[in-house]
Amino acid sequence: MPVTLDPQLKRALAERLRYYNQMGIYDFYRRGAGPAIEEPQVEQPSTFQPEVREEMTPRSAAKPLPPEEDLFVVGNSKPEAGVSDPVQALKIIREDLGDCTRCPLHKQGRKQIVFGVGNPKAELMFIGEAPGADEDIQGEPFVGRAGQLLNNMIKAMGIRREDVYIANIIKCRPPNNRTPERDECETCSPFLMRQIAAIKPKAIVALGSVAARTLLAINAPMSEFRGRWYDFRGTKLAVTYHPAFLLRDPRQKKEAWKDLQMVMKELGWEVPTKTME
Ligand code: URA
Repeated sequence: MPVTLDPQLKRALAERLRYYNQMGIYDFYRRGAGPAIEEPQVEQPSTFQPEVREEMTPRSAAKPLPPEEDLFVVGNSKPEAGVSDPVQALKIIREDLGDCTRCPLHKQGRKQIVFGVGNPKAELMFIGEAPGADEDIQGEPFVGRAGQLLNNMIKAMGIRREDVYIANIIKCRPPNNRTPERDECETCSPFLMRQIAAIKPKAIVALGSVAARTLLAINAPMSEFRGRWYDFRGTKLAVTYHPAFLLRDPRQKKEAWKDLQMVMKELGWEVPTKTME
């Protein structure tokens, strides 16, 4: 039987949905069903205030917002919904991201947004933490020293950088390469979730603890994350060391290589005997 919502509650819900949509969030999960995003909590109408913090400016209102009714009747669908071509879908997501001002990083010295790079139909996706200085200048993830090592890791797997898709949890460089704040991860990662949904990789490798913790919503040390598979919204996800960590402690490369061998096996790829440098 259709449920009739109290008009005031409906308005409040529509307002909240619009706010989430402006922040790039379209998918909602019931608590417990998905690892990273909880169902939005809708306050009672009498106390409801749309939560728009000053420093979290949503996308400008240049694009007309859907009318309140459409949020319920047409469905709360993402702009790339129904687009099966990942190239097109990624283009739409990039356009939706725009010249993003949703979190404070846009006014903390970022030169450009680092969206992601690689094969839109990749079987394998690598997800790092945040762009560094080189990435900020070039607009591409993993192009600095850590990127050189990631390239070697990819090569050791018997594939090319262009075969995989590479992205980060956040798309703007934090000042002085500090660790991204939780708020920044939560604001930016919905766009990454949409990129993953567009690409539909067979497996994801989270590089380092920030990527693992954000994607899996588990606060664990690397020692607990590694060596097993996780289900990330229906996609296999493994965790390995961040290449920047491996540059600091090269002895751990053999451990990372074990992680990558696990990934290759799962994907049905031939596992090269030669290890990575
Ligand atoms: N470290 C990351 O996590 N991402 C990059 O793109 C570069 C360095």
